[in-house]
Amino acid sequence: MTVHSKKTILIFGMPGSGKDTQADLLQKNTGLVRVRTSKLLEDKFNNTDPSDTFLMEQKKIWHEGKLNDPEWVTSIVIEKIKELSGKNKGTILSASPRTLYEAKVEMPLFEELYGRDNIKIFLLKLSDEEAVKRNTKRLVCEANEHPIDPKLVEEGIKICPIDGSLVVTRTLDNEETMKMRLSEFYNRTSPIFDFLRENSFQIIEINGEQPIEKVHEDIMEYLA
Ligand SMILES: [Zn+2]
Repeated sequence: MTVHSKKTILIFGMPGSGKDTQADLLQKNTGLVRVRTSKLLEDKFNNTDPSDTFLMEQKKIWHEGKLNDPEWVTSIVIEKIKELSGKNKGTILSASPRTLYEAKVEMPLFEELYGRDNIKIFLLKLSDEEAVKRNTKRLVCEANEHPIDPKLVEEGIKICPIDGSLVVTRTLDNEETMKMRLSEFYNRTSPIFDFLRENSFQIIEINGEQPIEKVHEDIMEYLA
């Protein structure tokens, strides 16, 4: 399917909703470029000078599963979006905006760069119970951290279907970290939805408890 290159897709959902997996599938099947906030942040943290107290603090916050300083995160994301838009590339975001502050800064920019009609917003719905279940046993592959479909795990899969490396437990998701991420979602990400609705953006709700392929199909229907 051809998707207009100057489009931006925002995918929301609580931890475990599979939004990153969906962003990967969309990148593969639409040609739009995924902007990975976590990757942008990790790049910064990997080159942290220990004397940089701000970056060291942000690195600590990140590893505790809390949300980083919104102004700082937003500036990093915006820099990347402008770069890609400048190359006439559309974008996919699954981790930004994550706070109301980010939304207020980023949405006008998206409108300016892509036009309102080319902004598509999806919310992958998941019950708390399902989110907890998925996060405590989230598995990824050893080589590339590809998320492994829980259904495949139940069927006994031991190696990544994409690169054949071993399936391992993702260490970020211990129970305390997961609880923190869920409460951060409710306290800081949910207000974004009110802001978007007040500003007449349509939020397309998708049932995130369906199999990965079905969720992807449902999203693609809205991009035709
Ligand atoms: Zn893999």
